[in-house]
Amino acid sequence: MPELPEVETIRLQLNTVLPGLVIKEIEILREKCFQGDKKEVIGKEVIGVERYGKMLFVKLNSNIGLAIHLKMTGRLIFQDRNQLDDFLIEDKTLKTLPNKHTRLIIYFENKSRLYFNDLRIFGWIRIVDSVKREALSAKLGIEPFTKDFTLENFEKAIKAAKKAIKLVIMDQQILAGVGNIYANEALFCARINPQKSATKLNRQETEKLFTCINSVLKKAIKLHGFSDNDYLDAFGKKGEAQNHFLIYGKNKENCPVCGKEIKKIQFGGRGTYFCLQCQPK
Ligand SMILES: [Zn+2]
Repeated sequence: MPELPEVETIRLQLNTVLPGLVIKEIEILREKCFQGDKKEVIGKEVIGVERYGKMLFVKLNSNIGLAIHLKMTGRLIFQDRNQLDDFLIEDKTLKTLPNKHTRLIIYFENKSRLYFNDLRIFGWIRIVDSVKREALSAKLGIEPFTKDFTLENFEKAIKAAKKAIKLVIMDQQILAGVGNIYANEALFCARINPQKSATKLNRQETEKLFTCINSVLKKAIKLHGFSDNDYLDAFGKKGEAQNHFLIYGKNKENCPVCGKEIKKIQFGGRGTYFCLQCQPK
């Protein structure tokens, strides 16, 4: 599932191309993916793209906009009007757009297009007004890279949750944007066992984890996110974060710090990687 770095990469890219474009038409190929009356947004101009946790919000020149969640396998790919004839995406099988996984196409007045592709069809696009947008973002916990993301707020939030630290930092109502991949990486960076109770973290560990969440997310944004099978950025290219992971996906490989074998367990239903020597219980 795209996490904060992947969604932020898409946001940053879309912000370089969408502002100023006017929506001409929306072609809905799969009803399930779209909620609202598309007529409400036709003729509206894009002002900018915002992000709340893993959700995007395309702001229009009216009090409504488009909230977008990519969920498991969603992709949002921009095709510039100059690329209409020869546009290939970095996909193993379906390299052209639209293809059989295209669920929705937004056509702009200047002939550029925005494709919403989704293999498993859990993702969605909704027309929301400012009240609904507030309601969607109000459900989210502290947002990294905002003024609310302070060590004090972070400590208060994680200590209030009486469960394992990995489950705490993946809980969107506590910390917005971090999912399984970056939770694994941040906990290894901070040398904290994923199953350790959040209430048992000392001040030093909490501070280390706070710093590591910041640095792990920032590094992944710089690398345009993690691509395995599904995620592509807004220009149809793969991210490179997977080439720089230290622990995620490294089952039975040697720990890059101490050399001991990295373990993988299922924890909270998700693949959890750690080095018992560096991240003792
Ligand atoms: Zn180690």
